[in-house]
Amino acid sequence: MANAQGYAVLNPKAELVPFSFERRALRPGDVEITISHAGICHSDIHQGREEWGQALFPMVPGHEIVGRVKSVGSSVTGFSQGQLVGVGVFIDSCRKCENCVAGLQQYCFEGMTGTYNTMERDGKSVAYGGYSNLIVVDENYVVRVPESLDIAGVAPLMCAGVTLYSPLRHWHAGPGKRVGIIGLGGLGHMGLKFAHAMGAHITVFSHSEKKKADAQAMGADDFIANPSEEYFKKNSNSFDLILNTVSVDLNLESYLSLLRLDGTLVLIGLPGKPYQVPAGVLLGKRRRLAGSMIGGIPELQEMLDFCGEKQIVSDVEVIDPDYINKAWERTVASDVKYRFVIDASKF
Ligand code: NAP
Ligand code: ZN
Ligand code: ZN
Repeated sequence: MANAQGYAVLNPKAELVPFSFERRALRPGDVEITISHAGICHSDIHQGREEWGQALFPMVPGHEIVGRVKSVGSSVTGFSQGQLVGVGVFIDSCRKCENCVAGLQQYCFEGMTGTYNTMERDGKSVAYGGYSNLIVVDENYVVRVPESLDIAGVAPLMCAGVTLYSPLRHWHAGPGKRVGIIGLGGLGHMGLKFAHAMGAHITVFSHSEKKKADAQAMGADDFIANPSEEYFKKNSNSFDLILNTVSVDLNLESYLSLLRLDGTLVLIGLPGKPYQVPAGVLLGKRRRLAGSMIGGIPELQEMLDFCGEKQIVSDVEVIDPDYINKAWERTVASDVKYRFVIDASKF
């Protein structure tokens, strides 16, 4: 067992506070990682505030983890001491179902084991996440990070990055494809960078004019703040793929009307309430409404290698742990450019 220092939510109405706890003793297949940086994902806030239903407290959030291998268990073959590595949204799965075997562990039949806010698969211990200085993870759920990338900017790739990379690849974003991204937050700005690197034509939909210059600098071809009825009419039947990263109630019918024949609107943000969608807007042009959740381990590795090749990282604001509560407030207010990342050496 090793002592770890972090920050935890003790109950959903409380602020995060310093928290000391134990990490498990290394099993043969485990990798012990000294965390360098941990990103703040909006999902941390949804769960810490119990906005998605019952949660486990105390909760050490954090599923955008980057750090260096401190030690490895006796049977570990893929990693060695000092190596730069990452851990994302899950740390285990059943490993046997069709989806796990296909490398799509996020869609495990038994449910993935989240990096936090869940019981480990032994059914006894609670998983504690990345807002801490140390973590122990089975090597099958750890990925290699290219040394050429800025380490703080890598952390958000582990959730925000792969969550947008995966649907862009699945629905073949690339040259000649018109892609829309709704919301330029932590997820949205990664989607913009990836879609640009893949060669697609990109329109960013935002709820204010504030991020226009940033969006253009990141490769947006068009930037539309609060699209009007007239915009929706003029641009109907023109998009191949739209990725919705916001978690507020949007008029999906309007965005669906922008899709051309066989176009797809992918839900990525998770609002608390169900959407209302009239069937007509779907069947009239064989449009699809889909969802997508993070990415599996092979895709996470593929994305990191792609980032190494294209020199893509997240735009981050690095903070000390005592700023986490303020950072949560600012994230909720869309006041972040474009991801808060905690310097884990300060825990
Ligand atoms: P974020 O950084 O807070 O970004 C969300 C963006 O939504 C904001 O930057 C803002 O962009 C837009 N927005 C905020 N309030 C709005 C409003 N009132 N009306 C319209 N747009 C608004 O959050 P994130 O970390 O990117 O996460 C986004 C969502 O994805 C969350 O619900 C999170 O839980 C979910 N998520 C899903 C997955 C998955 O696997 N599917 C993975 C991770 C996270 P603009 O200022 O540009 O409008
Ligand atoms: Zn996340
Ligand atoms: Zn499985």
